[in-house]
Order: sequence, then C-alpha cells, then structure tokens
Amino acid sequence: MTGEAENDCLFCKIVAGQIPATIVRETETTLAFRDINPQAPTHVLVIPKAHYKNAAELAAGAPQLAADVLAATQAVADDEKLDSYRTVFNTGAGAGQTVWHAHAHVLGGRGLEWPPG
Ligand code: AMP
Ligand code: ZN
Repeated sequence: MTGEAENDCLFCKIVAGQIPATIVRETETTLAFRDINPQAPTHVLVIPKAHYKNAAELAAGAPQLAADVLAATQAVADDEKLDSYRTVFNTGAGAGQTVWHAHAHVLGGRGLEWPPG
C-alpha cells in the first residue's frame, strides 16, 4: 500500500536494514545511498523512507516528503562538492524505471550531455 513498506520492495528492504547499502545521508524521512551500478563518479539514489511507486505518486500523496527528497538531493550534491549535477526520476519501464519505489538519481562528477539518451 502506498506510503507503507512493501514486502517485495528492494528499497523498502534497504530502509529496513535487511539489504546492505552504502548510505551517505539520512534524515528522519529520507535515505541516500550509492547506486550499485554507478553511471558517473557520483551516482547516489535519494529515496523517501515511505513507499511510493514513483515521483508523481510521491508528490500527490506526500508533498512535504517530495520536498524532503529534493532538499536531500542538494545536500548530497553539497556533500560530494558538485557544482553541477543532474537529478533524474525515471518513471515507467519505457524510461528505464526498474525499482518501483520512488527515487531520485543524483549524477555528477563528469560532463553530462544534454539532451540525455
Ligand atoms: P531505475 O532504473 O531508475 O529504477 O533505478 C534503479 C537503480 O537502482 C539502478 O540504477 C540500479 O543500479 C540501482 N540498484 C539496484 N539494486 C541496488 C542496490 N541493492 N543498491 C543500490 N542501488 C541499487
Ligand atoms: Zn518500497
């Protein structure tokens, strides 16, 4: 159910400490950890601890939590000393979403092409 931990959700398991992750930042409502398959020198995922399946459901269901996630992306960029970085929310399989728990990718530390592929 939206907002509650889901049994088969990888990121809910990371929040619960059942699967290890390299955590770089934590707040009461958010968690940031390094992507296991980094696409840039800095590639951190920022998630709400509560389960929402994508960014739109998060924004609709918990606007303050969505703001917390965005604030955490900037905090991660500051921690990583990134002047420029990209925040990506993939939504839907066609856009590359593979984990159905809302997450922001924070990418930086190299030149980032625009438009992206
Ligand atoms: P997306 O494809 O946008 O849904 O992003 C999911 C991301 O989660 C991918 O970039 C994966 O590399 C990453 N990922 C999958 N499993 C783990 C894990 N156990 N720890 C950290 N990142 C993971
Ligand atoms: Zn989840």
